[in-house]
Amino acid sequence: MQINATLINLYHVCKRELWLHANGIRMEHTSETVAEGKLIGETSYASRSEKYTEVEIDGIKIDFYDARNKVVHEVKKSNKVEKAHIAQVKYYIYKLLRNGVEGVSGVIEYPKMRQTERVCLSPADILEIEDWERSIDQIVKSENCPPLLDRPICKTCSYYDFCYINDDA
Ligand code: SF4
Repeated sequence: MQINATLINLYHVCKRELWLHANGIRMEHTSETVAEGKLIGETSYASRSEKYTEVEIDGIKIDFYDARNKVVHEVKKSNKVEKAHIAQVKYYIYKLLRNGVEGVSGVIEYPKMRQTERVCLSPADILEIEDWERSIDQIVKSENCPPLLDRPICKTCSYYDFCYINDDA
């Protein structure tokens, strides 16, 4: 199957969400969280968009790539640095490397915290990413939806009603 950055991100957030998303079960994206994330993405980069190009590679889209300095930029609305964000950017760098673009690094900006996180790809990361890909493939192809995560993050997930209301019924 075609692995993309969204699946890599979801793999680190919730295996159940990964399975639901990859198997085409979608919920309405009307939450304020989603809207706010979009807004932050749009406004933070509006004045410096010329520096970046959009890159499509192996079916994944990197929204902000600074080709001159070989830096992948990502902006997150979150008020904490999350493993899933770093995994997503590492995956972008990995994909570029696999397509012959060496020496790329990443920067994740967190406008809410006014914080920047630098991301590099190590040889160990490459092996780990290959494990993620194999594991994602297995999860998505499984006939069984993975169990509930049952963590606070569920309250802001678009599948919350699907997971908890159906579960209680
Ligand atoms: S509500 Fe929780 S368990 Fe369900 S998909 Fe979202 S994060 Fe996963």
